[in-house]
Amino acid sequence: MATRPEGDLSPVLTAGGVRRSFGVSVVLDGIDLTIAPGEVVALLGGSGSGKSTLLRILAGLDPDASGNVRRPLHHAVVFQEHRLLPWKRVLDNVALGLSGPDVRTRARAALAEVGLPDRDTAWPAELSGGQAQRVAVARALVREPELLLLDEPFGALDALTRLRMQQLFIRLREQHGFAALLVTHDVDEALLLADRTLVLEGGRLVEDAPVPLAHPRTPDDPAFGALRRHL
Ligand code: ADP
Ligand code: MG
Repeated sequence: MATRPEGDLSPVLTAGGVRRSFGVSVVLDGIDLTIAPGEVVALLGGSGSGKSTLLRILAGLDPDASGNVRRPLHHAVVFQEHRLLPWKRVLDNVALGLSGPDVRTRARAALAEVGLPDRDTAWPAELSGGQAQRVAVARALVREPELLLLDEPFGALDALTRLRMQQLFIRLREQHGFAALLVTHDVDEALLLADRTLVLEGGRLVEDAPVPLAHPRTPDDPAFGALRRHL
């Protein structure tokens, strides 16, 4: 992982007063959030609540938003669709935009880490949906991100493949220690993967609740009930 000075506990991501409208429709109406180093935060919210809009703003991909965002230099985004370039082989997709003598070695290592050590010369069209999403994760990983921004990364996969990707995420997190914002509409995924859960509704963050990984909540836990009310 990209290293920060020893003992530096300042947030990897800080957003303040983020607003975004499309025409007369106010989608984000003042969002403040911080993510600590190594923290995984799930962002829940109904369809159309503005999750993807917020993620794009946090990633620096929306020049028309207002507010302040401080993100680390080393960050990477994974979308629901893999967004691999079909005319480039898998290894070149992973190494895309990077330079340096060891880029291909690092890209191969990232592919091995996501469980695809032998697919470096394959074309994206030759991959299954799950494999393509693994390549998208490798493409993020090779950037040694301090922060991953993930927009329903496993949402388009079948249940078994999704479970395997969730296990991969847990393992990669242990090994690399990145922080992440994980957009999902799956409460179980949030409980499984995140340390903290935010709920976006009506343009605002209406819930901010810790999710202790070692002690998954039961449905009668009051904090869990608070989360459920918003889904
Ligand atoms: P979510 O990811 O939570 O489903 P989105 O962030 O994609 O929601 O969208 C939030 C709202 O903003 C929706 O009503 C959507 O129609 C609107 N929206 C998003 N992007 C655009 C755009 N480029 N132009 C107009 N409206 C948009
Ligand atoms: Mg979305």
